Amino acid sequence: MTKEKARDWIDENRKHIVELSDRIWEYAELGLVEDKSNKLLADELERQSFEVERGVAGMPTAFVAKWSNGEGPTIGLMGEYDALPGLSNNKVPRKEPLKPGAPGHGCGHNIHGVTAVSAAIATRREMKEEGIGGTLKIYGSPAEENYDGKVFMVRTGLFRGVDACLSHHPGSVNTAGLSSSTAINSVKFHYYGKTSHAAGSPEQGRSALDAVELMNIGVNYLREHVIDKARIHYIIEEGGGQPNVVPDYARSWYYIRAPERDQVDHIYARIRKIAEGAALMTETALKVDFLTGVYNILPNKVLSGVVVSNMKEVGAPNYTAQELAFAAEIAKSFPREQKVDNLRKSKMPHPEKYVDIDIMKDILDPWNEGEVSGGSTDVADVSWQTPTIEFGTAAFVLGAPGHSWQTVACSGTSLGHKSLIFAAKTMAGATLDLLTKPELLAKAKEEHAKKMQGRTYRCAIPNDIDPPLAIAKIAAEKLKGS
Ligand SMILES: [Zn+2]
Repeated sequence: MTKEKARDWIDENRKHIVELSDRIWEYAELGLVEDKSNKLLADELERQSFEVERGVAGMPTAFVAKWSNGEGPTIGLMGEYDALPGLSNNKVPRKEPLKPGAPGHGCGHNIHGVTAVSAAIATRREMKEEGIGGTLKIYGSPAEENYDGKVFMVRTGLFRGVDACLSHHPGSVNTAGLSSSTAINSVKFHYYGKTSHAAGSPEQGRSALDAVELMNIGVNYLREHVIDKARIHYIIEEGGGQPNVVPDYARSWYYIRAPERDQVDHIYARIRKIAEGAALMTETALKVDFLTGVYNILPNKVLSGVVVSNMKEVGAPNYTAQELAFAAEIAKSFPREQKVDNLRKSKMPHPEKYVDIDIMKDILDPWNEGEVSGGSTDVADVSWQTPTIEFGTAAFVLGAPGHSWQTVACSGTSLGHKSLIFAAKTMAGATLDLLTKPELLAKAKEEHAKKMQGRTYRCAIPNDIDPPLAIAKIAAEKLKGS
């Protein structure tokens, strides 16, 4: 009854909820500069009697909103709102930038934060009306895509005392997956050399670009001697001005990933040695700039069960002929073989059933326990503090590439809206279950303790490193499009 009423509230307020998501889609702000997006959500919560603390953990665009109804569990709901560079696209089933070069919501985070906010408001109303004890904490967490805002929030202790955490990510299937994610370090290597005329007096120069290249070569040889599941990728961010000037400054940016945190630590230590070796070889100076580091996710089967059963109670959305045609048009933009490949890679049972489906209508029981997805997320660090699950609802065309114009287009249309409403109802129901059924929370916690295996969480980001606000501002300026 209570859950139904919470879901009814979401239906009654559908128009406003969708508007919030569309506005964040239009803002499309990059990580740590989500000024308008975070304000929109924080203001909304404040209007609904939540006590909002803004600018937490050293990030002006992070907030925690709290509402308490006396004694009871504390449930955390997390929401993201950062966009991705260069992906701006119109709400059409073809590549057509809205503003060339500008950011776009290529990961659907315009939906992510609004799910948490609307689920929280619907839940709060029921808690108040039915006298359900407990506390809701909504985490407005910036920069998931580039600077891992949640890790700084964890480091500040903002998740202390939370009994369980829920998070929603729009995706291409409806489920609360049990796969883990990779742990990662994001690090920049700056080399400083000596400039000179590259033809007239090359012997006087010390090339910072040589150091960057030699470091990359060393790392590429290291690949043979790391575990199979490690992933090391880099770009050269700065490589000099033009060929006739020996570059006195060059910079690379590395991501180092592996299924477990300590594996990343181990590989990173070796990469540091290679970086120092390159400086020695080239007589340049090295400065290492550690940006962020996250853990691997500890999935929670109990929470996944609560979420999936709520999904089933709500029922997945139906789609109009127009929506299906839109999805079919998007599906034409990438090869069918890629979809077959992606389905197979996901190890989902009976992938052949879904090869000709563009937008998923089934609710799937998670099939991926024990798997590790290639990507990383800062949700992982929260999962080392308290039982946590991030669930997905279909918003994107099945098999479409992630972080793409295709996902930008879907996130802003009714496909995204339906995913949002479905997720918000699911999240409100799951939160009410966790508030009213202590045995569920107890089981979730027991599972969490077991998965921690007695290990202690040690934040990968050193204490003296602050969120890179200045870097983020400069990057956002550079990537704002024309
Ligand atoms: Zn995302």
